[in-house]
Amino acid sequence: MQPLSAALPVFSPQTLAVLTPLRTGAARSRAELAAHTGLSPSTVTARVDPLIAAGVIVEDGTDDSRGGRRPRRLAIRGDLGTVASIDLGVERSTIGLVDYAGTALGHRHLALDLTEGPDAVLRRVARELDALATATGGLALTGAAIALPGPVSAQTGRLVAPSRMPGWHDVDVAALLSTALEVPALASNDANCMAVGELVGGDAEALNQVFIKAGSGIGSGVVAGGQLYTGRSGAAGDISHVTVPGAAPVPCSCGRVGCLDAVASGSALTRAAQEAGRDVTDVETVIDLARNGDALATGLLREAGSMTGGVLATIVNFFTPDRLVVGGSLSASDVFIAAIRSKLWADCLPMATENLEVAAPRHPRVGGILGAARLFLDAAFGPEAARSALRIAARA
Ligand SMILES: [Zn+2]
Repeated sequence: MQPLSAALPVFSPQTLAVLTPLRTGAARSRAELAAHTGLSPSTVTARVDPLIAAGVIVEDGTDDSRGGRRPRRLAIRGDLGTVASIDLGVERSTIGLVDYAGTALGHRHLALDLTEGPDAVLRRVARELDALATATGGLALTGAAIALPGPVSAQTGRLVAPSRMPGWHDVDVAALLSTALEVPALASNDANCMAVGELVGGDAEALNQVFIKAGSGIGSGVVAGGQLYTGRSGAAGDISHVTVPGAAPVPCSCGRVGCLDAVASGSALTRAAQEAGRDVTDVETVIDLARNGDALATGLLREAGSMTGGVLATIVNFFTPDRLVVGGSLSASDVFIAAIRSKLWADCLPMATENLEVAAPRHPRVGGILGAARLFLDAAFGPEAARSALRIAARA
């Protein structure tokens, strides 16, 4: 199988002007393309027709039941290729296959021990993907994307001091994945991938979103103007080490005390419950205790929600997003979510919250793989500069 970078041509800016809105769902017909781009209908047709002839996009003819002509729907051809997408987590990982139209073809949840290090973990991932591809009809992979629970440098693509992944610092995971699967690959932070996952099949108007992943660790991803915003370093949205005013001086992996991650993350809550004598192993068991009326567990979740809400209130006041999505294992706690909401509404200007949608993830448990695959497709279908974000292992 040819690697994707060789299979897909580099599209001209003129072609991308119609191809990108079709890929992202901003336009779904010739008429919508004309409205979205401001191009004339004849120019749209002149750019769309060669893409249909080349088999990059498909047009389906649906007749309106009332006899009128309904605009025919344009879409990327899904079977152009298959992206292996991986969402690596400390407690749970997900692998999946996503077609070039961004549709998930199948997925599995796995428990991987990230402390075994990158080589062992990626070997296991490759084996599991192989089995999944076979089970899904013998699909050949053409690309890969991985969401990682740690900061990924925008300059080098390498992990930077991930607090819960010993042995992974400075590892170019995308390059290792590319070697293991023999396809071009991309790596990004998991909260970033989940933020992008919210754009898949979503409301095309909600262009400004913040996704907070409240799991073992706390992180967030920012979508501005419909695009992932990573900042210069790649760490934009990483709120783990924001100092919480008035928090207990709990030491953090970064060397300081009282960071949001150290006082309000799932790991922090589990540790606090254990220190108080509760028999808990992870944040799910803390949430279960609270559901069963344990006052200590309920108090810990309420306090964590309030501290997280306080940090989010600053972000909402500053950024005024359309949507704030709360995901991760802590989002299963009603107490945690209610505390976030009340803190947000108490601390934000009414102008910042009057149209704010606080939502649960659109794709629970698969948002990470959908978002990672979307980032891969954005690069693969993008201009030359975007393609350079893909790691392509040296081939013999
Ligand atoms: Zn810290």
